[in-house]
Amino acid sequence: MTPAPLGERLPSFRYHPKPLFTGSVDWSDEECARCGKARGFLYKGPIYSEKTVRVCPWCVADGSAAETFDATFTDAEAPGDVPDEVVDEICRRTPGFSAWQEGRWLFHCGDGAEFLGRRGGDELNTAARKAIREELRGWPDDQIDWYVDALSRDGSPTAYLFRCRVCGTHLAYSDST
Ligand SMILES: [Zn+2]
Ligand SMILES: [Zn+2]
Repeated sequence: MTPAPLGERLPSFRYHPKPLFTGSVDWSDEECARCGKARGFLYKGPIYSEKTVRVCPWCVADGSAAETFDATFTDAEAPGDVPDEVVDEICRRTPGFSAWQEGRWLFHCGDGAEFLGRRGGDELNTAARKAIREELRGWPDDQIDWYVDALSRDGSPTAYLFRCRVCGTHLAYSDST
């Protein structure tokens, strides 16, 4: 086993800037199934492929894990104004994230948004709260208020927070067990 070099920096992911914070990457002394190295970190989010494998964030970033295992890390349905290369980068070269239901990526201004992690209701700004309320359109107002207040970072229901890389607006959706 190759020891993890000290101080090695994680690759940067423009659509998922802090994967250690969101829990999609974690410290581990296990070897990567793609490069065979134990580099100190492993990807912990979903992997959609025939085999369930553990890969390192570097093999996610350079696309080699996606290619070797014919894998995607996110199932994204992008609006028509988003270039295919962006969808490819999000699905095949960006850490996905675990959700209660199947995770989905959010898009805005013709680009993928950056994923910031799970949040509780009181941690969402006005724009993000509005996005959640829009999802629940048709519910009575008091039930919507109750639901938004009940959102919790570690529990259910929870909110998945994104930020548009173009205009900076916060975007969010929620799900539950
Ligand atoms: Zn690797
Ligand atoms: Zn935007």
